[in-house]
Amino acid sequence: MYNELIMDYAKLQKYKGKLEDALAQEGKNLSCGDEITLYVKIEENKIVDAKFEGIGCAISQASANLMIENIIGKNLDDVKMILENVLLMVKGEKYESDKLGLITKMEDIKNYPMRIKCFLLSWKTLELILKNIESS
Ligand code: ZN
Repeated sequence: MYNELIMDYAKLQKYKGKLEDALAQEGKNLSCGDEITLYVKIEENKIVDAKFEGIGCAISQASANLMIENIIGKNLDDVKMILENVLLMVKGEKYESDKLGLITKMEDIKNYPMRIKCFLLSWKTLELILKNIESS
């Protein structure tokens, strides 16, 4: 499970930190102790920047970095499509791998039920932000 991609992305500092004038959402994975605050800046229906703060295991950190790298510059419809495909991937269902790029390298996570929540923490936090936008 701990492949090179995860180790590299877990250490990445580029997307770590606080973003001012952005939407913020906290997320917690109690089963592992992972915590994240996700910051997303949206302009004209597009994610123009994103960062996160938090602590957690290598999988949760790598997943957050990989997610942010893949959503910056995308419009919200594309982001929702990526999210849907990520959820299908971890359920072991058919998904569009060309939409996910490097994220597919973490597909193995579906075989580790205890770690799926680590992987999904950042995505579930993003999902909350998207839902809040829709209901506001
Ligand atoms: Zn974890």
